[in-house]
Amino acid sequence: MIDIKDCKSTWNNCIEHIRDMVGEQSFKTWFEPIVPVALQNNVLTIQVPSRFFYEWLEEHYVHVLKDAIHAELGSKGRLEYSILADSSKSEPKSIPTAQSKVSSQTKEDTYSLDSDLNANYQFDNFIEGDCNRLARSAGLAVSNKPGATAFNPLMIYGKVGLGKTHLVQAIGNQIKKNFPGKHVLYVSSDKFTNLFMEAVKNNNTRDFSNAFLKTDVLVFDDVQFFANKEKTQEIFFHIFNDLHQSGKQIIMTSDKAPKDLTGFQERLLSRFKWGLTADLQTPDFETRVGIINKKVESEGVFIPNDVLEYLAYSIDTNVRELEGVIISMIAQSSLTQRSIDLELAKQTIATIVQNIEAEVGIDYIMKFVSDFFSVSIDQMKDKTRKREIVVARQVSMFLAKEYTNMSLKSIGSHFGGRDHSTVIHAIQSINNLMETDKKFNATMQEVFKKIKLKSA
Ligand code: ADP
Ligand code: MG
Repeated sequence: MIDIKDCKSTWNNCIEHIRDMVGEQSFKTWFEPIVPVALQNNVLTIQVPSRFFYEWLEEHYVHVLKDAIHAELGSKGRLEYSILADSSKSEPKSIPTAQSKVSSQTKEDTYSLDSDLNANYQFDNFIEGDCNRLARSAGLAVSNKPGATAFNPLMIYGKVGLGKTHLVQAIGNQIKKNFPGKHVLYVSSDKFTNLFMEAVKNNNTRDFSNAFLKTDVLVFDDVQFFANKEKTQEIFFHIFNDLHQSGKQIIMTSDKAPKDLTGFQERLLSRFKWGLTADLQTPDFETRVGIINKKVESEGVFIPNDVLEYLAYSIDTNVRELEGVIISMIAQSSLTQRSIDLELAKQTIATIVQNIEAEVGIDYIMKFVSDFFSVSIDQMKDKTRKREIVVARQVSMFLAKEYTNMSLKSIGSHFGGRDHSTVIHAIQSINNLMETDKKFNATMQEVFKKIKLKSA
């Protein structure tokens, strides 16, 4: 007997249990997409989007899942998976594609497309961090077995400047290294759209498609630009299907998760989800330091440690911006024979990074307070009740509320997982102290001045 309602409510209870055990990001990535489909004889069947997804759950979350199932269904409870789109197995492979019909030489020449791979983007210089671990390792797997993993298509998404183009180019370059005979093509969605419109005008859309169908690996960068372009989506859909059916690798990037893309045909969106979707997040402090180090190394310059840390603390949202500041500093220092120091860093950031105040992030605030009050960041995060540490901790929380858009809850989470009421209390304490303690008030005025120096 299958009871849909029971199955749903059982899974909902499990999910509540799981939510407490895993981080928010993991929860979103790995548990929200799961759909409960059946409950029968204490066996709960859940549907997952792909084989890879299932493997990842089994490898990383088997205990969490077991605990949840046992808590809900008792020790006899079991879990089974149903895999929604196992694209590597369920797709027919033998459908002939248009590529067998080679057109005449001249027409082919029109479309001997340049591979557009840029050798500067490699795995070697793509710094690994929590922010990109899944996307990067999936990329490596695809490089080793293009078209032959469950990650087809591989869809990388993330905000601007977080390394999408770098990563997919690195995959393309790596495939060329591993399999020199393979035909790899990188194309921005803009270029694809323009070429297509030209082909429509010249009446040779067939050659256009054939040129793409000749590839073994096709990389589409920034597919969000296909939004609301019906005809382009149409041809893209056919190319996608043909390549996919003949076991060719498709890699895409987008600035949003497929589920958040608007202006797309549903059938296209559902194909985007066939393989693996992996996101790129904002890099954490260590990763930013790694990226800066790599960059200055490749430019053959040296920057002192305090400058490096200052940069990594100050620019915490966008890697492209971070690189822009470094390049500009190097240029200024070599043009004016000036050494790269903190002051140059501050000036450069102020001229390059717009809206600097919005850029004051929690990492920067904690580092600033730690320097200013001479307590370590770790001390602020742990449970110490020593007066000077409590004050530093409370000042940090106060400044975070003042200078960022973070919620109270999220501020608390940066201080060893404290809750929002602790943050409210901290803000009140600091306000009280400023009103009642002249000396403390003077200290705070200096804090306000110095923290803003960033933007001066
Ligand atoms: P996107 O395509 O997501 O807008 P890019 O791939 O163009 O971003 O990345 C912007 C810049 O940041 C590039 O110069 C890239 O080399 C660099 N970058 C991003 N992430 C990393 C990383 N993890 N390691 C090294 N460089 C990175
Ligand atoms: Mg890009």
